[in-house]
Amino acid sequence: MENVKIILLDIDNTLIDFRRCSREALSNACSDLGIEYGQTFFDTFHRVNNKIWKEVEDGKAVRQDVYDRRFREIFEILGIDRDPAECEKRFRYHLRFAADHVPGAERLMKYLYGKYKLYVASNSTLGEQESRLRRAGFFDMLNGVFISSDLGASKPHPEFFAECFKRLGDPPKDEVVLIGDSPSADVRGGIGFGIRVIWFDRGVEKLDPEYIPTCTVHSLEEIEQIL
Ligand SMILES: [Mg+2]
Repeated sequence: MENVKIILLDIDNTLIDFRRCSREALSNACSDLGIEYGQTFFDTFHRVNNKIWKEVEDGKAVRQDVYDRRFREIFEILGIDRDPAECEKRFRYHLRFAADHVPGAERLMKYLYGKYKLYVASNSTLGEQESRLRRAGFFDMLNGVFISSDLGASKPHPEFFAECFKRLGDPPKDEVVLIGDSPSADVRGGIGFGIRVIWFDRGVEKLDPEYIPTCTVHSLEEIEQIL
């Protein structure tokens, strides 16, 4: 890829493995509250969590709705009689310490570091993501962090990317590339905003035919052939 100077990296399921992190954090949160934890709880969490994040991406909900609703809905589905707000609090507390790498993430960061200016671009909460990036060993390689809680908008909305560009000092769009795993947040967001996107296809989600990434990779190692 020609002319690239700045790379925006998604965090969850691109650099840090959210499924693995959430397994540990959910288990600890349930243990704190005396809730029985198993595969059904884990699967229900991901189904409900993904559904509400999709609503955020579609502009039908805001980030706070994820935090307010997900354990309430999970507890309703599973018939658990505990305080969902407390579970949310415990889950997010434990999640701060969870930073399992996606395979190849460390190698990718070391490959990109020094060649490009590196920023993360994530739909989440600033303090939590900073803590996880530090634990993952990635924070000191970054030139900055763009997190939706701090920017006041979420991917894929153009306001999110406009704020990133403002903070970057309005570079030409062809100098910026986004790397991310989500067709709805990263590919739609980046392509919709007019920047190039490398889609990390984990084999889980399908592309929206209206938004085609510039490149597709199936492992993070493949990015070394592109950048
Ligand atoms: Mg992601």
